[in-house]
Amino acid sequence: MTVFQVGDVIRLKKPHPCGGYEWKILRIGADFRLECLTCGHTVMLPRSEVERRLKTVVSAGSTNERSKS
Ligand SMILES: [Zn+2]
Repeated sequence: MTVFQVGDVIRLKKPHPCGGYEWKILRIGADFRLECLTCGHTVMLPRSEVERRLKTVVSAGSTNERSKS
């Protein structure tokens, strides 16, 4: 199971209509809020949809917090 964090950049299997595949996670909950990195559009998707459409996690955005210890 994939662990998501706010700030992560993920790549989905299906592109946004603008042609972008990469999304930044803005909010995590029952629904995720994702921002298209290509056009800046934001969408809400249920977590199950995000997991089903996920191809790869491109970069973990919260590494700063994790490495601060
Ligand atoms: Zn887009």
